[in-house]
Amino acid sequence: MSSPELRNVEVRVRVRPGSKKSAVRTHSTKELSVDDKRWAFDRVYGPDSQQSDVYEEAVKPLVEATLDGYNSTVLAYGQTGSGKTYTMGTGHETLSQNEGVVPRALRDLFDHGSAVKIRGSYVEVYNEELRDLLDPAPKKLHIREDATRGIFVDGARQVSLTSVEDAVTLLERGAASRATEATKLNDRSSRSHAILTLTVERRKHLVEDSNGDVRASSHIAVVRSKIHCVDLAGSERCKRSGAQGARLKEGIHINGGLLALGKVISALCDREEGKSAHAPYRESKLTRLLQDSLGGTARTCMLACVSPDSQDLPETLTTLGYASRAR
Ligand code: ADP
Ligand code: MG
Repeated sequence: MSSPELRNVEVRVRVRPGSKKSAVRTHSTKELSVDDKRWAFDRVYGPDSQQSDVYEEAVKPLVEATLDGYNSTVLAYGQTGSGKTYTMGTGHETLSQNEGVVPRALRDLFDHGSAVKIRGSYVEVYNEELRDLLDPAPKKLHIREDATRGIFVDGARQVSLTSVEDAVTLLERGAASRATEATKLNDRSSRSHAILTLTVERRKHLVEDSNGDVRASSHIAVVRSKIHCVDLAGSERCKRSGAQGARLKEGIHINGGLLALGKVISALCDREEGKSAHAPYRESKLTRLLQDSLGGTARTCMLACVSPDSQDLPETLTTLGYASRAR
């Protein structure tokens, strides 16, 4: 069995600040409790945790793996208002001192200068349909796979990013596009998954080892990999009012992408413990799109966000349940 530091799939919980009387107590860096029940995760971040702590511990290792040629995925899970967008740093407060993990990841990627080429795409999955957040024109997008790009969204715009400012512009465009659609269709942004994909191309001089000497050769290898940063749909069950007749009962709709994701992550965690398990990637667009960056040699970190407020307790328990099953 691998040591905790070497896990490819991790589930970390972050408790956002809330009212004085918190329903969630953190006990250690790995344990929290709600009422009498204790829960253990790979890591627990209390309400006082800093954005830099979350980045350095949870996400930076994934950025480094990506630079080494491995794909990776960071996912923010939780009910609406639990701190997903705050933690990712893809909302409006992108350049503030409290910036979230995505702008920090970009800074680290750009630190490598011209040796690393970065491109970004930003798509949304809503109701099993894909939409390009960087291009508002309606078009049909499809998930495809090829040898160089692996799995990708065919038709989605990819922009070359050369600075943190470029990236912030991209994030702002995406956020504005999400907001516009959200007002057209009530509450859409909380029910859609926003997937920012950063493709990294790193040029490496091959090093040859001849007679024990290590010397740089003139051969250059291009290492390609990507990191997905996903702000998931709100995990709350949304009540759908029956449009086909006043007497129709409100159905409880659970997001299919979240359901499939839970099954995939749970299967991956089982595999890490040596059990065989089927990971149903094709059950949703979300999991299919992430397939080559979720499992195998890829590194994955789920950041499960919860509110400590007592009125949010039912949703908090649901999130902890999901996160611990996934774990
Ligand atoms: P979500 O994206 O899950 O709906 P948000 O990220 O928008 O939730 O967070 C809801 C509110 O709580 C926002 O005003 C956000 O700034 C604030 N917030 C969330 N997490 C934190 C945190 N760890 N520290 C300070 N404020 C936070
Ligand atoms: Mg949000």
